[in-house]
Amino acid sequence: MIIVMESGASEGQVQAVVEKVQAAGLNTHISVGVARTVIGVVGDDRTKEMLRESLEVAPGVERVVPILQPFKLVSREFIPHDTVVTVGSQTIGGAKVAVIAGPCSVESREQILATADAVKAAGAGLLRGGAFKPRTSPYSFQGLEEEGLRLLAEARERTGLPIVTEAMDAAQLELVARYADMIQIGARNMQNYPLLRGAGRSRLPVMLKRGVSATLEELLLAAEYILNEGNYQVVLCERGIRGFNAHTRYTLDLSAVPVLKRLTHLPVIVDPSHGTGKWRYVAPMARAAVAAGADGLLVEVHPNPAAALSDGPQSLNPDNFADLMASLRLLAQAIGRAI
Ligand code: PEP
Ligand code: MN
Repeated sequence: MIIVMESGASEGQVQAVVEKVQAAGLNTHISVGVARTVIGVVGDDRTKEMLRESLEVAPGVERVVPILQPFKLVSREFIPHDTVVTVGSQTIGGAKVAVIAGPCSVESREQILATADAVKAAGAGLLRGGAFKPRTSPYSFQGLEEEGLRLLAEARERTGLPIVTEAMDAAQLELVARYADMIQIGARNMQNYPLLRGAGRSRLPVMLKRGVSATLEELLLAAEYILNEGNYQVVLCERGIRGFNAHTRYTLDLSAVPVLKRLTHLPVIVDPSHGTGKWRYVAPMARAAVAAGADGLLVEVHPNPAAALSDGPQSLNPDNFADLMASLRLLAQAIGRAI
């Protein structure tokens, strides 16, 4: 439930309410808005119900409202304004559409530096690259691990682009966090609860990708795990779900964008690379995502897609990426956003 304080409520009144709630064994999350303070309360439903009446009459309280949805901290009811996530020098969730670009996997020093230079020149704001790869087959390239993280850090030094990279389990978080500016949690790990909790305790922003057969409610509840540990810097990513069509690798669910934007205050980005699996369809779906209101894009770019060790068929080459960026600039302008 949320406790909406009166616009003139004093700090002492807010504090008294927080203490009362915490004494009952419930957790509080305070959101200070321009007009008023809202206290989110999470925990056992029966305890909340028992406290409700006495909270309604507590000094400084305007009203107590139950959040009917199963997700609480991520909901717009709890935080009505858009959350802006800061990743190094960049932000995700404001007027500017954030573009995260780079190879599926970090493969070599030459490959990651060439890609970083190319995406920077084309106007991307952040660099992506996997060092730990969740591959469907155990015989496929699994990533360069810590060496890949070091190379990403070198690419950041050189270009100034903050880096986004995946951690596949909770035990990897500490190592990944030593190098990354943003932790990616992949589709296969959307419901890896120890990983979600660990990312929630990390000081780094998190990009959470939708599982291939996850509902939006499941995605939001997965994000709730991260916020519930105290980390509110979370970006949701629609990356395609399992459908029955063979013409694309997954079915990119673009309707998830406006639906999520209504349900949650967290930024929503789209990954048209995994969503389509074919480079020819990446640019049209990237433009459609921005038109649908996405706060950013995740695009795989490789200097030589034909030679890529993972996801070559869906990777743009630097020229195609530069063309996409040029078209996105016009589109962003038309809908009152920048890129
Ligand atoms: C990736 O971003 O390279 C990746 C493995 O994505 P997903 O988890 O969406 O499959
Ligand atoms: Mn990939």
